[in-house]
Amino acid sequence: MRYEGVLTKMRTEITDEVQYYMNWENDFINLNQILGKKISINFLKYECLNCHLEKKIFRQGFCYDCFSSIPQAGDWVINPELSKAHLDIEDRDLEFEKRSQLQPHVVYLANSSDVKVGVTRRSQIPTRWIDQGAHEAIEIVEVPNRYLAGITEVALKDYVSDKTNWRKMLTNDVLDLDLAEEREKLKAHIPEEAQEYYLASNKETEINFPVRQYPKKVKTLNLGKTPFYEGVLKGVKAQYLIFEDGTVFNVRGHEGFVIEINIGV
Ligand SMILES: [Zn+2]
Repeated sequence: MRYEGVLTKMRTEITDEVQYYMNWENDFINLNQILGKKISINFLKYECLNCHLEKKIFRQGFCYDCFSSIPQAGDWVINPELSKAHLDIEDRDLEFEKRSQLQPHVVYLANSSDVKVGVTRRSQIPTRWIDQGAHEAIEIVEVPNRYLAGITEVALKDYVSDKTNWRKMLTNDVLDLDLAEEREKLKAHIPEEAQEYYLASNKETEINFPVRQYPKKVKTLNLGKTPFYEGVLKGVKAQYLIFEDGTVFNVRGHEGFVIEINIGV
């Protein structure tokens, strides 16, 4: 089977085991169904996800010009505490920013290698946790806008990391922790403006990833440097494909790359 198209992040569905899909213009691949098969990936060219021109991808699937100008790539996306739509202040496009920022957001704890704190829109749970490769996660507060979530995250970063160690996550060098207990410990450090939004009772969500064999050591595939790769797919975790030889491919990190994929037997 042969597919060709521009890569975008994998879509997911939470079931007993997460289901992963690569979406093409008129077709899709359910990756769970091709575990154990040999696949090849061939990088053809770039295609910016915004302007669709053949320009080198800078970040998040966008060329440099788009990344520097479109509202989807404003600084508040990565740093939620910089959100200003609740003050009626425009960054790049106030209407867009109001739609994105003025909606329920959740600050959570997710354990993918070590416990980290993060922010996401309510509608992105559990997608965000799956994309990070968290095998367990729990909500801390649910607030009415992105700014409040951002300042809560900043305050909690003094007590818990905000980074994932992706090597540990991909080799499954992880611990099971009692996140409800961790959450309780952080309660006192939530900023005053967000205290009232603490979720009184919340249960941990457990996530199982479709990985048949974890590598002992990982090496990353960067299509910009190595345009062709072939290997046996052994699993999918976070936004990574994991191959038998320890190669890992970050699909989200290659958004905007036009590729050809061949699936063998
Ligand atoms: Zn562009």
